[in-house]
Amino acid sequence: MLYGIDVGGTKIEIAIFDDHLKRQDGWRVDTPKDCYRDFIDAIISLIAQADQRVEQPAKAIGIGMIGIVDDNGNCVSSNLPCVNGMSLVEDLTRSLVRPVAIDSDMNTFALSESLGGAGAGIDMVLGAIVGTGTGSGLVVKEQIYKGRSGIAGEWGHVPISATLVQRYQLPLRACGCGGFGCAETYIAGPGLLWLGQHCGGQFVDNPELIAALRGGDERAEKAFAIYLDCLAGSLAQAILHYDPGVIVIGGGVSNIREIFHRLPALIEAHLLPGMSVPALKRPRFGDASGVRGAAIMAQQLCQKTAR
Ligand SMILES: [Zn+2]
Repeated sequence: MLYGIDVGGTKIEIAIFDDHLKRQDGWRVDTPKDCYRDFIDAIISLIAQADQRVEQPAKAIGIGMIGIVDDNGNCVSSNLPCVNGMSLVEDLTRSLVRPVAIDSDMNTFALSESLGGAGAGIDMVLGAIVGTGTGSGLVVKEQIYKGRSGIAGEWGHVPISATLVQRYQLPLRACGCGGFGCAETYIAGPGLLWLGQHCGGQFVDNPELIAALRGGDERAEKAFAIYLDCLAGSLAQAILHYDPGVIVIGGGVSNIREIFHRLPALIEAHLLPGMSVPALKRPRFGDASGVRGAAIMAQQLCQKTAR
């Protein structure tokens, strides 16, 4: 049996899989946000419950976390301040008496899609999330690529290109990371809504903006065209850096169907002449990728420990 845990800003989900990654069971609890001890206790309690539901408890635990996770598996920039800088792997390994692997939910998403998902059989898979935030995980030959310190794939904090700033006369928006002009501030969900307002629309949320777009509203069409060009430019930067075989795009914003139709040609325009755009795919597992990718981490950890 394999256990995968996905820690989100509001819920922690656990799922039990068999050794062939078929989901057997799963449930959710609220995420304790303010106290590290409460957070640890919540994970311990979920594992104790899982152990009671199976004949043979899992030998290792995989956990996907929101935010950036360093090369030791500890959170350095999570939206859960109580876990930042804590020795999460060490504390959980000691309490659960078995090996624990922790990585960002971007990486668990990419890992899940690379094994049996939309990126199956492809050597390098970039799993990009475009939702409330933006970032990605990179998987090379079915292994998460961490880089030196765990921030590989965080292209949401690469500023959009000067070409885009000049083309659309965009102000450099302040980002939560302390920088200005980060791609995330234009291409994540809140960025799309901001562009709608920047183009003179009075949209209260993205569904209203998209409904206006489909109804032929000029301001919505202008905002969406700028949005797509910014997204294309950012993905082109990721392609120029990593040259992945496939980009799997997930997250709430990726559900807008027009994105997949219009993006390839726009990306190509940001690449060098003669370069082609890799396949852009929707995720096979969608929201289930978090726990599934975490369970794959646990499986890979068991295989490493057995060697
Ligand atoms: Zn930023």
